[in-house]
Amino acid sequence: MTVPFVDLKKQYQSIQPEIDKAIQSVIDNTAFVGGPYVKAFEKEFAEKMGMRHCIGVANGTDAIYIVLKMLGIGEGDEVITVANSWISTSETITQAGAKPVFVDVDEYFTIDVRQIEGKITSKTKAIIPVHIYGQPADLDALNKICKARNLILIEDCAQAHFSEYRGQYTGTFGRASTFSFYPGKNLGAYGDAGCIMTNDDCLAEKCRMYANHGALKKHHHLIEGINSRIDSLHASILSAKLKHLSHWNGLRGLHARRYTNSLQGINEITLPKERIKSVHTYHLYVIKTKRRDELKAHLEQAGIETSIHYPTALPLLPCYQYLGHSSGDFPVAHANQQEILSLPMFPELTNEQIEFVSESIRTFYPLYGA
Ligand SMILES: *Cc1c(COP(=O)(O)O)cnc(C)c1O
Repeated sequence: MTVPFVDLKKQYQSIQPEIDKAIQSVIDNTAFVGGPYVKAFEKEFAEKMGMRHCIGVANGTDAIYIVLKMLGIGEGDEVITVANSWISTSETITQAGAKPVFVDVDEYFTIDVRQIEGKITSKTKAIIPVHIYGQPADLDALNKICKARNLILIEDCAQAHFSEYRGQYTGTFGRASTFSFYPGKNLGAYGDAGCIMTNDDCLAEKCRMYANHGALKKHHHLIEGINSRIDSLHASILSAKLKHLSHWNGLRGLHARRYTNSLQGINEITLPKERIKSVHTYHLYVIKTKRRDELKAHLEQAGIETSIHYPTALPLLPCYQYLGHSSGDFPVAHANQQEILSLPMFPELTNEQIEFVSESIRTFYPLYGA
């Protein structure tokens, strides 16, 4: 048996007629950029989320950049974010002209809210928490801090489509939230795509305008913008896939429980903890173990593909050397980067595959001793 890390082909095959129809329809109508497919998807996703505006953009990275820019965040400003994320979260802060300020992670891999106060200065304008792996950050605390210190909350939901915190979807708490529809995300297009969500009418209009060359009406450029639109093909595919998202997330949850049950009791590994009163959508199932690299090699030998999210904490990457950080500044994120391992996780994973992965992990430990 081999177990891939993700299997997008299997997902396509499970809904092939719907996807084929979605693609053919766009071709038949030659509505490739903008138009009814984009409008339809934006409306459907916004309605599901209970939000006023969904603005489709080219990818999840642009979504963050556009929001920051349209909030007027730039030169001289600081934006607080988390030490463990994909680089999009912090590179967009720099792109906007501001300075990223990193905070270590808590035991849930999300931003450690207890350390935020200490990082706030007179220049701080916003906080971007990441609901990493599908796990909501501590939104109660984040809301409280943002209110008290007059900061803008922007949620990076690239890994948290339909995750929930206190019965409410992540992405509905901040002034704006951003989503990625990169193919491997819980809701994925067949290429790059993303969106911005907000209830702020004015911000929504600005973002929509900026993403489309600064124009809401053709040839009526109120500002200079960029070209960052969602392709109609992706919008049409996303509309088809959106109908299955809750079911797929449910399956991810079941797989996570199966992993957790099978792996419980192995002292050398730490299983993912779920924040209380929240729904973790398991974009990734991440365990921790001191002998991560050996375990990874062992699994690879068995035909099991794993991954690391992420091998280096953001502030410790070469591109942030100029900030002058050392690993001691982010002890948890730094320790994690040597111990975290993402196991195969996708809705179509079978129970047999999960058992095989779990069994392969179990055999590793007696083999190599404590
Ligand atoms: C995927 C991802 C992004 C960026 O999305 P793209 O669509 O790839 O540009 C941003 N933040 C996080 C946490 C992500 O995982």
